[in-house]
Amino acid sequence: LRPSEKKIKNHLGRAGTLTTPHGVIETPAFVTVGTKATVKALSPEQVRQVGAQIVLANTYHLYLEPGDEILKRSGSLHKFMNWPGPTMTDSGGFQVFSLGVAYGKRQSKINNKIPVASPDEATPSLAKIDDEGVTFKSPRDGSLHRFTPETSIAAQHNIGADMIFAFDECTSPTATYEYQKKAAERTHRWAKRSLDYHHGRSQSKLASLIKMAAGISAPASRQALFGIVQGGRFEDLRKKSATVISSLDFDGFGIGGSFEKIDMYDTVGWVNAILPEEKIRHLLGIGEPADLFGGIENGVDLFDCVNPTRLARNGTLYTKAGKINIEDARFTRDFSPIEKDCQCYSCQNYTKAYISHLFRAKEMFGKTLASIHNLFFIINLVKNIRQSILDKKFSEYKENFLSHYQT
Ligand SMILES: [Zn+2]
Repeated sequence: LRPSEKKIKNHLGRAGTLTTPHGVIETPAFVTVGTKATVKALSPEQVRQVGAQIVLANTYHLYLEPGDEILKRSGSLHKFMNWPGPTMTDSGGFQVFSLGVAYGKRQSKINNKIPVASPDEATPSLAKIDDEGVTFKSPRDGSLHRFTPETSIAAQHNIGADMIFAFDECTSPTATYEYQKKAAERTHRWAKRSLDYHHGRSQSKLASLIKMAAGISAPASRQALFGIVQGGRFEDLRKKSATVISSLDFDGFGIGGSFEKIDMYDTVGWVNAILPEEKIRHLLGIGEPADLFGGIENGVDLFDCVNPTRLARNGTLYTKAGKINIEDARFTRDFSPIEKDCQCYSCQNYTKAYISHLFRAKEMFGKTLASIHNLFFIINLVKNIRQSILDKKFSEYKENFLSHYQT
């Protein structure tokens, strides 16, 4: 792990490299989301062509379908999905959160102070959290399941990604101080249990003595385990969480949970000022252009976000001037590419008129072309930011990009 080759002057931001069993990642980097062991609408070759260095799959989804045992039998996530590069899995905490307090409320990780649901609206909850773990109902078939730190890590061992995450409680951005405190403390206990299980320390003393006597030692895991810092929008809780989590022997760290949009970068900065410099920091589930600049400036090495592909499938495309909707009437006779100077396959070969037609005609290929462009846009934005750090031009690049980009 060499995350700090070059730093942004007077800031926590840095450019470096991260070595995994499946290749080297140049950081900062955008992590492409392949929820169910596939980046929707794209082949692994297309994912590679847009410049993706690493893919993240979701433990919760793979556990429910097809089941993590199937991935183990396949030989690992890499073999199962034919992606030879580095991989990660999340712990399932965020998805369980989505089934609990946030279920049916369309709540996201960032509170933009826009009311997302009327407070008296009765919403069903499919998850129940206790100190041991979370019990939840599968939204697919109503079957009952339980995630604990141990079962989450066991599932992630079966899936076999290079980097995995401790099981955490992801809270709502609107949760009270008292609840955030309680949830962070629970996340800390779960972090320790995740680590103990990962290193085989939870097995009984007798079992390890027998193994030692027989000359069997547990195989050293090639999977790196990341601990997750929580604490919501509260400075003292975030700092406490960063202190507790960084005192444990994790290989890297995730910054999870909920933020107030306005002070997200401060929150990230509080945490990264405490986390050890020689280990990787991953900001979970965040990745809009302005957030990439703010996160990187404040010391983030990795980001993952479903937005580039999810927006693409809805016809929303990133451009340097901001987002456009390809189904707008003005594009039906526009025979120029999405962006004239974009080097992606879609812009090199197709026009807005054609892609607009594909979306109106509900043709699958439209989603593929849109996903290629959006992923290329975000991945290359992060690559350009990295280059600007190496060239000592981060501030100029940031200012120039954001002055053109309309949110
Ligand atoms: Zn393009």
